[in-house]
Amino acid sequence: MLYLGCHLSSSKGFAAMGRMALSIGANTFQFFTRNPRGGAAKEIVPADAAALVQMQDAGEIGRIVAHAPYTLNPCAKEEKTLEFARNTMKDDLRRMEYVPGNYYNFHPGSHVGQGMDEGIRKIAETLDVAMFDGQTTTVLLETMAGKGTEVGGRFCELRQIIDRVSRPDQLGVCLDTCHVNDAGYDIAGSLDAVLEEFDREIGLSRLRALHLNDSKNPSASHKDRHERLGEGYLGLEAFYRIIEHPALRGLPMILETPNELPGYEAEIALLREYDKAADANKL
Ligand SMILES: [Zn+2]
Repeated sequence: MLYLGCHLSSSKGFAAMGRMALSIGANTFQFFTRNPRGGAAKEIVPADAAALVQMQDAGEIGRIVAHAPYTLNPCAKEEKTLEFARNTMKDDLRRMEYVPGNYYNFHPGSHVGQGMDEGIRKIAETLDVAMFDGQTTTVLLETMAGKGTEVGGRFCELRQIIDRVSRPDQLGVCLDTCHVNDAGYDIAGSLDAVLEEFDREIGLSRLRALHLNDSKNPSASHKDRHERLGEGYLGLEAFYRIIEHPALRGLPMILETPNELPGYEAEIALLREYDKAADANKL
């Protein structure tokens, strides 16, 4: 099954996001758990969450991806910033239990001069405070472009975080195609080699979701500027190879391209058309 979706505004709640996803040909989606710049989250309405769970149980919508605010820095230097990261993640994970069994993705953060090892240590510590026994949400570390002092530009950095936490079973990785390209992995030219490296460093069983974004910049630029599919350095063929790859099949694939809804709808349609043609060719 091909699970395609895009980032949606969460202002109208879970059921509305589910309906919006279906209306543009998506069968998964991503949303911010609160204002992306941080701040208080709206309390969840149980009946609204239950309506989405029903759509998931009926097979209309696959697993969805919640995204933490991108200002959150789980390896910050200042205690106050760290405290904000811990409390936000803890609260987000508590709220995610209204829609059990989905994903919560976050940017590992920036070590801001403390060094990679200290950054990794602090991220694992923040996760240990925020995660709890019996949680049904899988927390995803996002692969980063390696901009500035960002942690997570190399697969081995994510592996070290996973090795350090006390609940590794509830941890996975979300691979962002723009970020890994910008970090220096040739995902457009050598998909198999990149996935083999991922498997060696982290293990493919940890790969639980993808962000499908083209990049405004060439590989190893360490920039992180998303582009529409086919309009950047990765090119459409790269995305066709990704959606057809047996190791990636079945994972939620989320568009975070610079688009409004009609643009997302068109990209999803393009990928589904290719997939249909590829299926027909296999017969
Ligand atoms: Zn992200």
